[in-house]
Amino acid sequence: MSKLAEQLDQMTRPAETLVEKLPGGAVRCLACGHRCLIKPGRRGICQVRYNEDGVLKAPWGYVAALNVDPIEKKPFFHVLPGQDVLTFGMLGCDFHCGYCQNWFTSQTLRDPASEESLGLARRASPEQLVAAALRSGAKLVASSYNEPLITSEWAVDVFRLAAQAGLQCAFVSNGNATVEALDYLRPHLAAYKVDLKTMQDKQYRKLGGVLQHVLDTIQRAHALGLWVEVVTLLVPGFNDSVEELWEAARFIASVSADIPWHVTAFHPDYKMTGPDPTPVKGLQQAAEIGQEAGLHYVYAGNLSGRVGSLEDTHCPQCGTRLVQRRGFTLLDYQITAQGTCPKCAARIPGIWAG
Ligand code: SF4
Repeated sequence: MSKLAEQLDQMTRPAETLVEKLPGGAVRCLACGHRCLIKPGRRGICQVRYNEDGVLKAPWGYVAALNVDPIEKKPFFHVLPGQDVLTFGMLGCDFHCGYCQNWFTSQTLRDPASEESLGLARRASPEQLVAAALRSGAKLVASSYNEPLITSEWAVDVFRLAAQAGLQCAFVSNGNATVEALDYLRPHLAAYKVDLKTMQDKQYRKLGGVLQHVLDTIQRAHALGLWVEVVTLLVPGFNDSVEELWEAARFIASVSADIPWHVTAFHPDYKMTGPDPTPVKGLQQAAEIGQEAGLHYVYAGNLSGRVGSLEDTHCPQCGTRLVQRRGFTLLDYQITAQGTCPKCAARIPGIWAG
């Protein structure tokens, strides 16, 4: 076993809920859609959950990244706009996206180039994180940076305390969830951001995922009453054909026309350095498709100041501009305390400040 794995294994706890015990000391991990069958002494696909003598061990008690960010950066546009969110991340992922911007922490134990990421891990307790959130004035806490599903137990322990302190809780996830993981998270979560990376299963497999798992997560999270926002990073030549964008938009609209869809611009990163950065017109075209498909809230991200009103929220009923943004900055906010449009009184879906 590598020294890195040995050190990470010291910061774990037995997973008690998201696990199924199998004969011969094997376990099935239920934290993500891979549902790894793990024999004693072996690791799951994510490498950070492992079987120790018939017990599934899961990461617990550290953070590798901790920042106070605007909620718009996650991105959530319909969750307490303008508020800060204490965002924490651990190490590891169940995917291996070639364009990952957080690859240094997400690919720990999977890519030797990210070995030094262990230096970022520092021990922490849920009490410390919640105290830090309160000190910073954040109104939310979020699990992000690496894939939060694979460290769900840690997130729930943080969220439980955060809720007691009056904070809202959010997941920023690749959507490779299971029914069991969503049911486990539901009592503790208010909002769930899902990356819908492509509508082609063969492309999803290149990233380490399965399309249907992500579609199921969007449907189930919405059905469970979580506030869901969907993000699609448009990678030229990978997932940005007109047909594919229509398919994505139609799917989201079929779940709910009120789910915000963020189409965001790619820039070359990590192993995906071939495609050009997404042009402004690519984002605009995708946004038009989303609107034509009936989605009420379509946003263009990562090219702030160049996409016109596609950073703003408009009332779908009367067209009034309700929230004006530039990048992660709120310039104007008109939604009423009741969560309605001040002009026509239409209800605007989301989680708003009372
Ligand atoms: S979190 Fe996913 S990848 Fe990791 S062990 Fe569990 S099922 Fe496997």
